[in-house]
Amino acid sequence: MIEFKHVTKKYDDGFVAIKDLNLTIEDHELLVLIGPSGCGKSTTMKMINRLIEPTSGEIMINGESIAKKNPVKLRRNIGYVIQQIGLMPHMTIRENVALVPKLNKWDEKKYIHKVDELIAMVGLDPEVVGDRYPGELSGGQQQRIGVIRALAAEPDVILMDEPFSALDPISREQLQDELTRIHQELKKTIVFVTHDMDEAIKIGDRICLMKDGEIVQLDKPETILRHP
Ligand code: ADP
Ligand code: ADP
Repeated sequence: MIEFKHVTKKYDDGFVAIKDLNLTIEDHELLVLIGPSGCGKSTTMKMINRLIEPTSGEIMINGESIAKKNPVKLRRNIGYVIQQIGLMPHMTIRENVALVPKLNKWDEKKYIHKVDELIAMVGLDPEVVGDRYPGELSGGQQQRIGVIRALAAEPDVILMDEPFSALDPISREQLQDELTRIHQELKKTIVFVTHDMDEAIKIGDRICLMKDGEIVQLDKPETILRHP
């Protein structure tokens, strides 16, 4: 469980991006943060892995304040997927997927088989793409690898910041379906930022609608639909 307790973020220039935010994200839920550009979605998300520090208030994961945790250790348990995937161009697809387990110094036996399983999980053939380089894959295929790379170290939490925004509509729909399937199968806690309501309704267990650094509405997709 991730809890925001009276969290405020004031940037150095004095701009208050998040105002007294109280939010509980349940284990295994896919929570979508949605709202207009600049409403504070990314700021909220980046406070969970301490890329941004709150000015006041507290963020707890499983009852422990993250402020006391070493950010590097904290991030080992939090996958992060962004629009600009950032696959390593000189590493093969298999090497890219194995990157975080490797950095965590896991025993190779523990993840080597999982790498191919993960590649297959997003509809790609590991024998075909496994030894290719990212530049030899389409944008949609690269983004799929970005998603599973975040899963490879078996984090409990995955943060996704507009991960599919740059994709063509068909790839985007396919990845939404794949994410829904992966989420049902692996039961990770996922926080997903988007500004696309159709996407939010399609994939979210709950939708958190934000405006000017505050929560306007927080509810299941059916309810959000009825009360826009
Ligand atoms: P969103 O993800 O909803 O588009 P952000 O969380 O990125 O919004 O930003 C929220 C607000 O905070 C925006 O008005 C943005 O310009 C501002 N902001 C973000 N980062 C900084 C920063 N480093 N310094 C000052 N203002 C910032
Ligand atoms: P995103 O919304 O995807 O985080 P942005 O383009 O809003 O991306 O921001 C890119 C980077 O610039 C972020 O690190 C953010 O914190 C910073 N930033 C955004 N708005 C401002 C601002 N008004 N002043 C200073 N930095 C900002």
